[in-house]
Amino acid sequence: MKIAIDGPSGVGKSTLAKEIAMKFNLLYLDTGAMYRTVAYYFLKYNLDYNLENKDELEKINIDLISRAGRDIKVFLNGEDVSQFIREKKVAEVASVLAKYKSVRNKMDLLQKKIAREKKNIIMDGRDIGSNIMPDADLKFYLDADIIIRTKRRMKDLNLNLEDKIAFDEIYKKISERDYNDLNRKFNPLKRVAEAIFIDTSNMTFAQVKQQVFDIIECKLKNG
Ligand code: C5P
Repeated sequence: MKIAIDGPSGVGKSTLAKEIAMKFNLLYLDTGAMYRTVAYYFLKYNLDYNLENKDELEKINIDLISRAGRDIKVFLNGEDVSQFIREKKVAEVASVLAKYKSVRNKMDLLQKKIAREKKNIIMDGRDIGSNIMPDADLKFYLDADIIIRTKRRMKDLNLNLEDKIAFDEIYKKISERDYNDLNRKFNPLKRVAEAIFIDTSNMTFAQVKQQVFDIIECKLKNG
């Protein structure tokens, strides 16, 4: 069983993917973590991420360890960077770097290799159903209103939902990432026709999970 989950930032793809992986015994690959690792490298060495830099990319080696029900472990040239890549700035830079063809090619090679080698896998990202695993058995596209995504992010960060300044700042960051993902030339965020579309705006996480689990169980039963 190969499952692809795509959708914009902050829609809950990775939380859901981790739960699916646990329940159905699949390997979980968080492709965003790989883009974040490249971003972390650029930040660590103070490199200009507003320019395409193919030479530096060649110096980046990424290793991944998938762990049941938990975040993926990521190693950059042997260093465990799993925690560092979750920082806000890393996400912002990843979203900029993800537009370069050389960066996407590097990620494509790695991700497609893993997709070929593993029979039971779930991947989440932006171009999984359209580019990385076009042959996936099931494809999901998750979306939610940007205001809802902003409020969910604020809750995750334990921020007061009435804090207008914090709301505006997070809203702006999510909009920028949406814009970058939707408008890049190579492999933009795309909802393919065969993907099951779920608008989670008015759903609880438990409801989304139940709906997705039911669909997967049905697919496993009926093929
Ligand atoms: O999913 P996550 O927020 O961790 O991804 C970080 C960034 O990497 C995203 O903002 C997106 O621009 C980029 N990305 C991508 N293609 C993927 C996964 C992530 O361009 N398949």
